Amino acid sequence: MSHDHDRASRRSAKDRPELQISFEFFPPKTDVMEEKFWDSIHKLAPLKPRFVSVTYGAGGSTRERTLRMVSKVKTDTGVDAAAHLTCVGATRDEVDEVVRGYQAAGISRIVALRGDSPAGVGMPFVQHPGGYENAADLVAGIRRIGDFDISVAAYPEKHPQSANWDEEIDNLKRKLDAGATRAITQMFFDNDDYFRLLDRAAAAGITASIVPGIQPIHSFKLISSFAAKCGASIPPWLASRFEGLDDDPETHALVASAVAAEQVLELVDAGITEFHFLTLNRSNLVLALARLLGRRPD
Ligand code: FAD
Repeated sequence: MSHDHDRASRRSAKDRPELQISFEFFPPKTDVMEEKFWDSIHKLAPLKPRFVSVTYGAGGSTRERTLRMVSKVKTDTGVDAAAHLTCVGATRDEVDEVVRGYQAAGISRIVALRGDSPAGVGMPFVQHPGGYENAADLVAGIRRIGDFDISVAAYPEKHPQSANWDEEIDNLKRKLDAGATRAITQMFFDNDDYFRLLDRAAAAGITASIVPGIQPIHSFKLISSFAAKCGASIPPWLASRFEGLDDDPETHALVASAVAAEQVLELVDAGITEFHFLTLNRSNLVLALARLLGRRPD
């Protein structure tokens, strides 16, 4: 039987490795959403994240907004910003132009993704004529342009389009070998899926970090629909925790924070030291989770 002080999550900050956190945002569409975006950025920036990343809308639809938001995050808060980038629906030259735009704006971190077919997340991806073939090809293209810190995607439950785990891990390895620094995972709710991914990656000789992407469940309805779209599963025990809470926001919020705390602290106890939080531009749950990780605003 272990004692509480043996748990990494209960050690004092000086007795455990320093944790690294990063936050993911999406580019706001309206003025009201933009106000919320900045409110959250200003609450989370004092936690000294390694970087704040801003996603790239399906099919490159947010190209200008992503660039504007990452540039402003960096100049307004001093926090390092990372721009997501996909190769959907664009030629190599067009994608390279976006990369040069990031470079000119002083953005040195890119989250490089293939993206999904405009026909829908589950539909087969069709390479644009003259476009990058996949994320590994995109990483190599970015590397040719400059010395970026590149993150790529990893999938604790396998990407829906990979036929088997060998294909999945080979692809992850290709992306890292092409010059990516780390991988960040898709959301997952069963830590065992993530631990198995780490084992599979280690067995394939992957040494780069595979940072868990943590999705706090602000709204079970919304997050379960996102999860279904991207091939992440909702375990029955998780669904039952939120059952019947649609009209009880207070209990829903308390359950959400308990669920996320349980997930994150279990990861810390297993020795995980890097976390990427999917904020959906909200700060409350993430602020609480960062506190559990020993991070406080300055
Ligand atoms: P890839 O790594 O290229 O792989 C996609 C699939 O193709 C895999 O099944 C792989 O095995 C297979 N494959 C690749 N190359 C080959 C090959 N040569 N032969 C056979 N099979 C191959 N989407 C957005 O639109 N905007 C975002 O900002 C965004 N941010 C994300 C951030 C994170 C952390 C994650 C996890 C996902 C994000 N996505 C985003 C979603 C992502 O675009 C999709 O999951 C997409 O379906 C796959 O992208 P990928 O980079 O993993 O593709």
